[in-house]
Amino acid sequence: MATIKGRRGCPNRDCLLHQLANQNNIHTHGWYKTKHGRRRRYICKVCGTTFSSTTNSAYHKLKASRQQVDQACHMSAEGVNISVISRILGRSWNTIYRWLERARAACSRFQDKHLRGYEIREPQADEIKAFVGPRSDKIWIMAIIEVSTHLRPSTQVGKRNYKNIKRLFEKTFHRGISDGSVLITTDGS
Ligand SMILES: [Zn+2]
Repeated sequence: MATIKGRRGCPNRDCLLHQLANQNNIHTHGWYKTKHGRRRRYICKVCGTTFSSTTNSAYHKLKASRQQVDQACHMSAEGVNISVISRILGRSWNTIYRWLERARAACSRFQDKHLRGYEIREPQADEIKAFVGPRSDKIWIMAIIEVSTHLRPSTQVGKRNYKNIKRLFEKTFHRGISDGSVLITTDGS
């Protein structure tokens, strides 16, 4: 059994080496079959958790090819709506919605884990109004862009109220670094 270098860490939150790899903890643990071929299983020797290369990713336990999910995400990012994606790929509206929701959650986890220590000098808050779901409910997507680097460190989705805007700024400042002199700009509305 070989130790895996440079691979994903243990997904078990209660494990002493949660998220860590390369500590002689993650070993290969056979294979498992999917419709799209066989995939590696791994085991954490510290806590005994077994997992696959897709555990906690947008591809976990997917009944579709990764390529098709990637296509759906790509189209959505280009502004194609779910009904159209559903017709092009021949999958139901609910399936596409679920894929996009999983991709969103995976991106969010990735951002929380990796996006840290960026410089905050001139955060600019902005929002757009969107309409979602069969009843076209109104929802706000609020985002911060750091003007000096064009980085978008955080977004918040929901009602446009004090609580959500405060949360947006908290997320931004919690992970970033500022020297205390920050210029915050908004359009005033
Ligand atoms: Zn573990």
